[in-house]
Amino acid sequence: MEKTSTDIKKVNIELDEIVLAFESSSPTNHFFIDLEKSEILNINEFTDYKEISFEEVDENLDRYIAIPKKESSEEFMRMEQFIMEIDDEAVREELFTTIKMRKPFRNFEHTLSKYPDLMEKWYKYHNKEIENTMRVWLKQNNIELAGEEVRIRREFGAREISKAEFERLDATIKKELKDFSPQACSNCGFEGDNFFMRLFMVDALPECEKEEEALHREMKKEFDINHFWTSTFDGSNIVILAASRCPYCGSDDIIFDF
Ligand SMILES: [Zn+2]
Repeated sequence: MEKTSTDIKKVNIELDEIVLAFESSSPTNHFFIDLEKSEILNINEFTDYKEISFEEVDENLDRYIAIPKKESSEEFMRMEQFIMEIDDEAVREELFTTIKMRKPFRNFEHTLSKYPDLMEKWYKYHNKEIENTMRVWLKQNNIELAGEEVRIRREFGAREISKAEFERLDATIKKELKDFSPQACSNCGFEGDNFFMRLFMVDALPECEKEEEALHREMKKEFDINHFWTSTFDGSNIVILAASRCPYCGSDDIIFDF
């Protein structure tokens, strides 16, 4: 039978288990999903621990799928992205210097340990990023987790972009955002150039209607914003939301021009 992109494979495995396998992977530590039994299988060449053999995997590629390995270049990008979003300039610079040294990962964690709040933020941020990476990978491989259909994303990590942070964004993104501006109020028709634009960053785009609703709930709860515009940029995984409020009637249902 020919395989089509609509062949969705459902497995009864938690996302956490896949994240853990990914995090534990190394060039000698391999993990596979057994699509038939809904299990994660491990081959550790270093300790000679084997729950399956490479031969079996190779002979049943429809059944066993290799979980991707953690790449240090991607891990480095996660660190950089996290540092870029730190508001305190001194801490930001300190961390940037740290990761330019030898053993950047170890030095990064060592420096972070001086700032417990930031450390906690980093672990949360990191975990979310890995979860997203795994979600994208599962989707590309047409694998659906049984519990995942109902367990929609609850948090998008929406945060307001400060002026300083805006200045640090990539030049092309800045340009696109500068061309994008609030023009008129949908509610009362007020027009003019005294609309104030607020920008927010989120961890990911909503992928279904339910997630769309969840993002709206988060924006309402955190910032009292009902209407916003979503922007993505070619060659970047940055997602930016723009919102404004009518200076005349206070509505946030604003028409933007771009
Ligand atoms: Zn208005």
